[in-house]
Amino acid sequence: MNTVKIRGLEVSACHGVHDYEKVKPQRFVFDADLEVDFYEAAKCDDLRKTVNYSAVCNLIAGIATHNSFNLIEKLAYECAFAVLDNSPVKRVTLTVFKPDAPVKQKFENVGVTVEVSRQRAYLSLGSSMGDRKKYLDGGIEKLGKTRGITVKKVSSYINTRPYGGVAQNEFLNCAAEIETYLTPRQLLDEIHRIEEESGRVRKRRWDDRTLDIDIIFFGREVIYEDDLTVPHPDYFRRDFVLAPLKEIAPEFFCPVQNKKIKDL
Ligand code: ATP
Ligand code: CA
Ligand code: CA
Repeated sequence: MNTVKIRGLEVSACHGVHDYEKVKPQRFVFDADLEVDFYEAAKCDDLRKTVNYSAVCNLIAGIATHNSFNLIEKLAYECAFAVLDNSPVKRVTLTVFKPDAPVKQKFENVGVTVEVSRQRAYLSLGSSMGDRKKYLDGGIEKLGKTRGITVKKVSSYINTRPYGGVAQNEFLNCAAEIETYLTPRQLLDEIHRIEEESGRVRKRRWDDRTLDIDIIFFGREVIYEDDLTVPHPDYFRRDFVLAPLKEIAPEFFCPVQNKKIKDL
């Protein structure tokens, strides 16, 4: 991966917890490392194939001057998200310095750094209540409208038998490929929100539901936590997950099974 660097971008803006900081501008200084594949741009000597650092500077300056946040943490995240929303950058490491911060002691500088990167993830969606197609369509639409998530591919919808001996109804299932700069946990929170907005009532595991969204893969990450296991622990035993995945990601290599999806 290649890196485009911005150092010492200075903006006069009004961020801070004190009232006077919200009206009297002070200096904020930005450093950014933008990871982007610019091999093609170098080969063709073409700006359109890389990230335009001048555009990124304008973007950061715009966010800094058009907002007034309490925290430079918030400012840093807003700038990093905006860079990812508006450019082909894969990972951004962004530091905000506040050299004139209200600190009593003599000091050189204070600042915060955030690192945000894009990942490809695969989700499995299922519905077994009401207008099942409407719930899947709605789930995909809500994912696409969520900041930090871009829906890249959606499989066809398939009818499947209920799983786990609890649910009674036939399911409609599909898989989706998304690109996201959310963390796995932030993605899980958004999924829970979307399930709730779709009228899901959590009863028993595997029971009938209006909408279920599971994270099957999150890039190559392997996570074993109490309420989050990725890759999904059961996906390779489930035809209703594998069949749609094979359609949209046959070549994806599972980091736990050590096999391509098409070979599972
Ligand atoms: P299954 O996960 O076996 O398909 P389910 O989808 O019916 O069962 P839910 O009631 O939807 O189970 O989810 C229970 C909990 O599972 C969620 O609240 C979530 O915290 C946790 N969980 C763990 N790993 C994942 C994952 N990869 N994707 C989604 N939820 C997960
Ligand atoms: Ca599930
Ligand atoms: Ca689930």
